[in-house]
Amino acid sequence: MPLPEGDILDEARRQMTVCVVCKYCNGYCDVFRAADARPDLTDGDLFYLANLCHHCRNCWYACQYRPPHPFAVALPAALARVRVLSWQRAVGWPAPLGGPAGLALVATLLVPLLTLLLVPPETLFAAHRESGAFHAVIPRGVMVWGAALALLAPVGLVGLAMTRFWRAIGGGSARQVARALPATLRDILTLRNLSGGGVGCNERDDRFGFARWHAHHLVFWGFLLTVTATLAAAASHHLMGMRAPYPWISAPVVLGTAGGVALLAGVGAMAWIKHRADPAPEAPETRAAEWTLLCVLGASAASGLMLLVLRENAAMGMLLAVHLGTVLAFFVTLPFGKMMHAPFRALALLRAAMDRQETDRAHDP
Ligand code: SF4
Ligand code: SF4
Repeated sequence: MPLPEGDILDEARRQMTVCVVCKYCNGYCDVFRAADARPDLTDGDLFYLANLCHHCRNCWYACQYRPPHPFAVALPAALARVRVLSWQRAVGWPAPLGGPAGLALVATLLVPLLTLLLVPPETLFAAHRESGAFHAVIPRGVMVWGAALALLAPVGLVGLAMTRFWRAIGGGSARQVARALPATLRDILTLRNLSGGGVGCNERDDRFGFARWHAHHLVFWGFLLTVTATLAAAASHHLMGMRAPYPWISAPVVLGTAGGVALLAGVGAMAWIKHRADPAPEAPETRAAEWTLLCVLGASAASGLMLLVLRENAAMGMLLAVHLGTVLAFFVTLPFGKMMHAPFRALALLRAAMDRQETDRAHDP
């Protein structure tokens, strides 16, 4: 049963107040130092701190005030709840179909079902080896316009939510943003706050390790490579007149294969780590959205790789439909699920870099 919004914020404020006094975990991540600079701990401050937290769980195992101590500090769980609340408030629109899991399931099934209904079986279940074989099953116009329409509303909602979040955490001038961008990019690309100040995360118990850090990097870079492969495919089509499926040695296939393998390996590792993780520092109500994202990314990578291997086989038509269904599921769940952590965390890291630079300048004018 989810807690009321006011209770989530009040509880996080109470715990963070203990941390501001204690300061024991200040070396683990930016959250504690950022909290020091925000003694009022307003709702906007809590939204910022929650998105700055990378859920490494170090502060849970280090904490002398965790339950059963009467202070009952369980910061990773408290911040996880605030994080989800910050996304929901900024989007201002409840997830249809009962949440990201229901939405993802319906979207994933929709494309294969429509394909079965609309594409004649002699086309759908035939082996296609000619140039433009994918579009013999699903016309290019349907694919391109379907993707554009499916992406438009979710990306618009995410953009609106990011704008609201940025205002809620203090905003900043274009000059401040430009100055802080290199440090922000470094923090994003190195996942600095997921490394516990250099010792790694607590994945399963009180021992430190870098498995989660490596797995997250695989997912991140795998995802970026698959996006780059899609852009390379569009460029191959429009600039070079090539039609999908592309040759084995071509930018879309090489990038897509590397990205798909990395994404699948990263998702598998994340799922394994999550499955074995100590549930004590978790917020159970956030788990469905986390597993939904892993399933959508994993299904998309796996179906994309199978499509690549079996593209000259009679199974190609249905594999293409399933793959497009998983991509649709990713698009439509963007504003309602765990994927919101990416843009919000980037903005929180930008805010943190700006604040660090302001502090440095105040000390060294
Ligand atoms: S999590 Fe516990 S040990 Fe760490 S700063 Fe907060 S109260 Fe102190
Ligand atoms: S990033 Fe890690 S140490 Fe920092 S608040 Fe989150 S769980 Fe605690």
